[in-house]
Amino acid sequence: AKKHGRNNYQFYSSDLSQTTIERIDIERALRTALQNDEFLLHYQPQIDLKTEKIVGVEALLRWNRNHSEMIPPNRFIGIAEDSGFIIEIGEWIMQTAFKDAVRWNTGRAQPISVAINLSSRQFIHNNLLNSIKHLLKKTHCNPAWITLEITESLLLNDNLHIRKTLKSLDSLGFRISLDDFGTGYSALSYLNKFPVSEIKIDQSFVQGIADNNDHRLIVQAIISMAKSLGKELVAEGVETAEQAKYLLDCDCKVVQGFYFSKPKPFDEIDM
Ligand code: C2E
Ligand code: CA
Ligand code: CA
Ligand code: CA
Repeated sequence: AKKHGRNNYQFYSSDLSQTTIERIDIERALRTALQNDEFLLHYQPQIDLKTEKIVGVEALLRWNRNHSEMIPPNRFIGIAEDSGFIIEIGEWIMQTAFKDAVRWNTGRAQPISVAINLSSRQFIHNNLLNSIKHLLKKTHCNPAWITLEITESLLLNDNLHIRKTLKSLDSLGFRISLDDFGTGYSALSYLNKFPVSEIKIDQSFVQGIADNNDHRLIVQAIISMAKSLGKELVAEGVETAEQAKYLLDCDCKVVQGFYFSKPKPFDEIDM
């Protein structure tokens, strides 16, 4: 038993250090990724099911490490947040998305909204508002073209600085969207306290539509709540025609998911 225990321990500890080594390795590589031009944005279309037109896109960060290996966001965003790199990377993301929003919207009658994911870490950093104002000027972007996606955890502690920042962003004309809705602590009281214009129904509920009655009910409840509070809706992670049909039947008309399109580079999106 002792031997077994010891082997277990060795296995466990080498497993742990493997994770640590990967973290250190990623953190080190992140240090130079920005200056080496290793990041890019892909955009995933958001479709209006009634008109079948693209009404928006979500910017999703891609890291082409050493220009040779694509690292998925789930493997590095958390590390970028913990190490603070997310501040600089986040500024690059905003600048790039603002520029692309200008390219899409200049001379267009019906604006395309470009959604950007913001980490809580970027809000806690004091300079978010100033750096956004600076980037707007630099890129000539209209804030009405931009949706800022935040998560419920940002609103959880009802922090004054965060509340003020969101209010200023709202006054500047940005739309604020609550991402992954339903997965967090979902105190509905947030929704009226903060200037949220849109709710994104989390993909876990959307994907349960076919075979999970609870998920169907949750989707319906979120939709009717959003409507009664006057919030717009996007359903994310739509993978099948059946899911799209259910959402349209429930009167959620804006959808995003692999069924319509994967995230793609700017040039590959047909507007
Ligand atoms: P998220 O914001 O919830 O983004 C949606 C994720 O779902 C994306 O994964 C997208 O590719 C994926 N997705 C879209 N449609 C479908 C579908 O039909 N089925 C399935 N199974 N998945 C779908 P991705 O690009 O790997 O990003 C993962 C997460 O990383 C994002 O989740 C977000 O939390 C974070 N992230 C990505 N880009 C950024 C960024 O620019 N800034 C920050 N702070 N976080 C980002
Ligand atoms: Ca998102
Ligand atoms: Ca999401
Ligand atoms: Ca997420």
